[in-house]
Amino acid sequence: MPDGSLPPSRPLRDADSLAEAGLVPAAALPALRAVAARYAVSVTPAMAALIDPTDPADPIAAQYVPDAAELEVAPLELADPIADHAHTPVKGVVHRYPDRALLKPLLACPVYCRFCFRREQVGPSGGVLSEAELEAALDWFAAHPQVREAILTGGDPLMLSPRRLGQILGRLSAMPHIDIIRLHTRVPVADPARVTAKLAEALESEKAVFLCLHANHAREFTDAARLALRHLSRAGVALLGQAVLLRGVNDTAETLEALLRTMLAHRVKPYYLHQLDRAPGTARFEVPIAEGRALLESLRGRVTGLAWPTYALDLPGGQGKAPIGPDFASRAEGGWTVRGPLGGGHFQADAEPPGPAGAG
Ligand SMILES: *Cc1c(COP(=O)(O)O)cnc(C)c1O
Ligand code: SF4
Repeated sequence: MPDGSLPPSRPLRDADSLAEAGLVPAAALPALRAVAARYAVSVTPAMAALIDPTDPADPIAAQYVPDAAELEVAPLELADPIADHAHTPVKGVVHRYPDRALLKPLLACPVYCRFCFRREQVGPSGGVLSEAELEAALDWFAAHPQVREAILTGGDPLMLSPRRLGQILGRLSAMPHIDIIRLHTRVPVADPARVTAKLAEALESEKAVFLCLHANHAREFTDAARLALRHLSRAGVALLGQAVLLRGVNDTAETLEALLRTMLAHRVKPYYLHQLDRAPGTARFEVPIAEGRALLESLRGRVTGLAWPTYALDLPGGQGKAPIGPDFASRAEGGWTVRGPLGGGHFQADAEPPGPAGAG
């Protein structure tokens, strides 16, 4: 920590521990105890060490340290903003798209993000599938050959022991119709020490394994995170990145560019930039869509195309993730008007339709 005190050696899991570590003022304790009674709290040593307690707008603290505002529910907020619940055929499975489905083996995470869209469900004690429930969930995948991709999420699947994770990957890999196994996780940045050689080995598979890393600020990529990601890529795991567009964290051209460039420098290809889901008590994080589009537009052409994520909104009601990024093409009479990312533009006339077969 910048003030010279030692970082904590265990995750900070309640308001009083956060106060003892100097991350929240004592005066805030009564309100924060109430927040912590409502929503899970965990700040790992790796993330606590990054927080500057003298900066009231610290972008790491904003993501993990609870705030009294979480008890205020705004009018448009929903407990299950993307309707996971309605698409659960068996416990631990969410199936919305024809070719892919989620498997949620547990609901624990290394950290609890204050803007989480599953904040009503995630927590340290909840949601571990029993052996029988996990079997039933895997049986569901085995019985659905149209599902070609299993997406492990939660919670955070990298909170499982390497043995358990290896079992699940082994079972999925053995299903002939499964081509892709994807894991969504925050562990390599939030708790990099968990990414041991054993864990990386558990992710080795004959099938294509993609790991989608959730990170929202360049500072989250520490030396330990770099090492964790290196272990994973050595194990043949392809690395993707996802971020949530967050007020005060990555909502300027500088912070967003730094995040995307830092991901790439760690071999992580930016995949999604998510518009915030309106979960209860998260309104302070919302960036209007118009601002998100303008931010992305400011990067196009100036920053390597590898950095470009799909800016997307997960529709409330479970109709899927829709791309909402800036448009460069618009329909005009007889063709399309296309704006150039480097300036200027172009009118692309429609090609003449081919003549009738056999003509001429
Ligand atoms: C987000 C999500 C997916 C994955 O969607 P992609 O666009 O392929 O990343 C799959 N199933 C559910 C239920 C989801 O919420
Ligand atoms: S790690 Fe993911 S699931 Fe867990 S609290 Fe953060 S956003 Fe929610």
